[in-house]
Amino acid sequence: MKKKEIILKGIPASPGIVSGKAFLYGREQYTISRRPVKEEQIQNELKRFKDALVQTKNEILDIKKRISEEMSAKHAQIFSAHLLVIEDSMLIEEVISKLKKEKLSIEYIFQDVLRRYIKVFSEMDDEYLKERISDINDVGRRILRNLIGAREDVLSNLKEKVIVIAYDLSPSDTATMHKRNVKGFATDIGGRTSHTAIMAKSLEIPAVVGLEILTKKVESGDEIIIDGTHGIIVVNPAPRTMKKYEQDREKFIAFAKHLLDLKDLPCVTLDGKNIGLAANIEVPEDVPSVMAHGADCIGLYRTEYFYMNRKDLPTEEEQFKAYSSVAKRMKPNPVTIRTMDLGGDKFLSQLDVPQQMNPFLGWRAIRFCLARPDIFKTQLRAILRASALGKLRLMYPMISGIGELKQANALLEDSKKELKKEGLAFDENMEVGAMIEVPSAALTSDILAKEADFFSIGTNDLIQYSLAVDRVNEKIAYLYEPAHPAILRLIKSVIDNGHKAGIWVGMCGEMAGDIIMTIILLGLGLDEFSTSPIASPEIKRVIRSVTISQAEEVAHGAMALSTGKEVETYAKKKLREIVPDIAAELE
Ligand code: PEP
Ligand code: MG
Repeated sequence: MKKKEIILKGIPASPGIVSGKAFLYGREQYTISRRPVKEEQIQNELKRFKDALVQTKNEILDIKKRISEEMSAKHAQIFSAHLLVIEDSMLIEEVISKLKKEKLSIEYIFQDVLRRYIKVFSEMDDEYLKERISDINDVGRRILRNLIGAREDVLSNLKEKVIVIAYDLSPSDTATMHKRNVKGFATDIGGRTSHTAIMAKSLEIPAVVGLEILTKKVESGDEIIIDGTHGIIVVNPAPRTMKKYEQDREKFIAFAKHLLDLKDLPCVTLDGKNIGLAANIEVPEDVPSVMAHGADCIGLYRTEYFYMNRKDLPTEEEQFKAYSSVAKRMKPNPVTIRTMDLGGDKFLSQLDVPQQMNPFLGWRAIRFCLARPDIFKTQLRAILRASALGKLRLMYPMISGIGELKQANALLEDSKKELKKEGLAFDENMEVGAMIEVPSAALTSDILAKEADFFSIGTNDLIQYSLAVDRVNEKIAYLYEPAHPAILRLIKSVIDNGHKAGIWVGMCGEMAGDIIMTIILLGLGLDEFSTSPIASPEIKRVIRSVTISQAEEVAHGAMALSTGKEVETYAKKKLREIVPDIAAELE
């Protein structure tokens, strides 16, 4: 029987329309089915369990050794607790006896026992025992992963073209995706500016996030349509729906092609002011896309992806090679390298960063780098050395006050001195900037401007911190408003303070690629827009359609409004008046 068509609305994460077969990827909670096993298979299930325990133990011993060598024996202690979980005879015996009694697959039984353990521990009054939950969870997941087969490899080894459906995808999951086999993806959770959503744009594949119940409605093999522009998913579409989306898809492709006609034209307003049009990249392989879409330079290179999906830390030499390859390919145009922004929704398994209650407010970005100057300086030295081979700029993420900026700059100076001593070349005049993505930085931007050569406004974080809205939480996505008057005021004061101090101000958050906001940002005086490569043609189209005085007038009007909704409605109206063909695409 033909399955019923289901339409779901989520949050648009990456534009475009695509259809294909669903591949359900993900969390152990729903991928492990209740599979009965025959009596004669029990020995084999037991062997699989023992093998997974040995493999997990070896993995943990390996990490423990590395951490105690690279950090300290104290840091490695957490892994001793993990080993205790593996050797817990009660847990192992319970799994074995349940397997023999219930005759279900070992992964199903193990997961069941694990859940019960976690429940029992969480209900205990003893704080020490409660704290063991995260150890049990960590080790349990590791064992499950080894039982199921390496989860990390799944997305990079897809044998056919699919649409990935998941409860959640981490940025490191998306970083392993092969564009050629993942046609698009959709997830239950996530927000518009989560790094998973940002990665989808980099991969140039349509994506929708925050669908809440998607994984409950889809089975692997179902036919799926993703409309990433409007945030819609159709499961098992009827023939008529399929036809409609095929037509929409053709229109979308034709429009994107038409915009590419602007590729080689300058990014200049109608009255002749040149505006910087830059692109954001995650990995060096993104450079051809930057060029294909006509951005002039790179305004944000998120270097933390270099540290992901690997067991060790990248060496200075490896980093030097990657950064200089990007610098050389973009030469003479600038490349803005952002130092590692670990934390928030980006985790690095090889570093011993404890689980945090509030990862976005915790040990993240520059805070981590200043605490680990060994890791930070390796990166600074690599960036400096690469600066001799192209035009590099450097910027620090998550600066919250002048102290951090000064400390980071002092480490940069140390690195320069070392390189000089070693006779290694670097660009003495490399610009060094601060990202403005924390409200305290925006509010003290007059002070920060004295120590920076430029500012780059990171609106993804600035919005989440100013409006107290977690950027990856779909439940409160309605509160995540780039057009909120508080955000416009902060942006205006950063631009004004930057200009007063004689430095330029760019923006590299997703807001810079949101055409609804382009005219307002231009009118507020923004000097550089850095967007995902696919967004740059339409931003250029808007900038080339307006004069500065027109934009200033629109910005002035926006600043007088009281709510984000009012600003958005007003900005859309102005866009329709000034650039009608682009505005039509919004509908
Ligand atoms: C930002 O916060 O706007 C930004 C560009 O940095 P990231 O998205 O990597 O946090
Ligand atoms: Mg940020």
